[in-house]
Amino acid sequence: MSRRSAPTLIVLGLDGKSAAKSNSESHSMNILLVGAGLSGAVIGRKLAEAGHSITIVDSRDHIAGNCHTKRDAQTGVMVHIYGPHIFHTDDEEVWDYVNSFETFMPYKNRVKTTSGGQVFSLPINLHTINQFYNRTMRPDEARDFIEGRADTSIAEPQNFEEQAMRFVGSDLYEAFFKGYTIKQWGVSPTELPAAILKRLPVRFNYDDNYFFHRFQGMPKNGYTEMVARILDHPAVTVHLNTRFTRDMAGEYDYVFYSGPLDGYFDYELGRLGYRTLDFERFTYEGDYQGCAVMNYGEEAVPFTRITEHKHFSPWERHDASVCYREFSRACEPDDIPYYPIRQVKEKALLAEYVALAKQTSGVTFVGRLGTYRYLDMDVTIREALDTADVFLTTGTDLPAFATSPL
Ligand code: FAD
Ligand code: UDP
Repeated sequence: MSRRSAPTLIVLGLDGKSAAKSNSESHSMNILLVGAGLSGAVIGRKLAEAGHSITIVDSRDHIAGNCHTKRDAQTGVMVHIYGPHIFHTDDEEVWDYVNSFETFMPYKNRVKTTSGGQVFSLPINLHTINQFYNRTMRPDEARDFIEGRADTSIAEPQNFEEQAMRFVGSDLYEAFFKGYTIKQWGVSPTELPAAILKRLPVRFNYDDNYFFHRFQGMPKNGYTEMVARILDHPAVTVHLNTRFTRDMAGEYDYVFYSGPLDGYFDYELGRLGYRTLDFERFTYEGDYQGCAVMNYGEEAVPFTRITEHKHFSPWERHDASVCYREFSRACEPDDIPYYPIRQVKEKALLAEYVALAKQTSGVTFVGRLGTYRYLDMDVTIREALDTADVFLTTGTDLPAFATSPL
């Protein structure tokens, strides 16, 4: 089988030695993975361990996809280049998996938000409620109080705004959710699904942990180091700065594609809508905001949040600080797609692409872009492990999607 040469070839042996392909086993297949993010790395590793020969291409100049971390040259701080990433999961097998490749340091995500000239704690908890209403309520009092402010006439919330009104009422909705959501999604919250808000809990105690999950942590040396270790297998070769084109597929026995679903088909049916992010970097001598993530609830403030990256590594010491202001806007063709919009129009187009994909043989679409879904890292890893497992049973009869995007 012939192999195309790539502009840049890196072989990720952590020992720096070049890797040899293991083609010795008769059932060994040559498999191409598009994307060196978590999806590509996890599937590639598992199939390599099963004796297959793995080639991974990524159009970027680094591995780890959107989880990529890099030390800031000026401050030495580990930066989450594509936005803040906190690992959290209830899936013990996935937690064990990531811990087998990297040391995870204890980390709890505690988010603050600025609104109306004050700083509050998120997700909305008893401290937020008491501070906002200048009260000293106990949990059951606060529950009754909020229920009294909620719009109980809404039986089945049909959209984000109705969900918030039913959940917490107009005061808290306007202060913390309305402006932020308009900035984040670029549309009225009445046009967004209620499910987006369901990701955020309301707590009637002082627990300000942003996540519910049993396991939470931060990779000691960053996500990119973790992904490098996942990729560190003699049967895995990674080509960076290499954009996938469909003619490459013919050179392999099977393809796993974690790039954008519509991109695979050269956008022939149109483009699936995404939000993209712009980051405005600035540095500060000392501690800029005292926490990793500060949201800004008001629409008048043009950015959604500021991330101060050194607070993601509380076990490190840095005098200087690097922060990113985060702005959200509609994704244009040359931008990085971040958040799939998944409204009615997008879902209709998605259904067309799914139908097209199902007529295509020899490729399975995976990951957040390949299935056009918002996926946390733990879910991405779980799906990647399961997809590889199914492939090891079915071989090339694997369907176009191991998990339905619809
Ligand atoms: P990606 O990381 O996007 O990797 C896909 C790779 O494919 C990319 O490297 C891309 O360059 C490459 N590629 C695309 N097209 C091509 C092509 N044609 N040819 C070659 N290569 C191509 N999850 C959490 O669990 N916790 C968090 O706190 C969290 N925060 C997030 C914050 C933001 C702002 C965003 C957007 C996501 C966040 N996530 C978080 C989700 C997390 O980023 C995803 O779970 C993860 O990145 C999914 O990995 P993936 O491999 O599927 O996709
Ligand atoms: N949200 C909000 N105000 C906040 C934080 C979140 O209105 O301070 C809304 C917003 O619409 C966001 C959604 O809640 O898209 C989910 O929040 P999450 O923190 O899960 O956002 P993500 O991690 O997707 O950026």
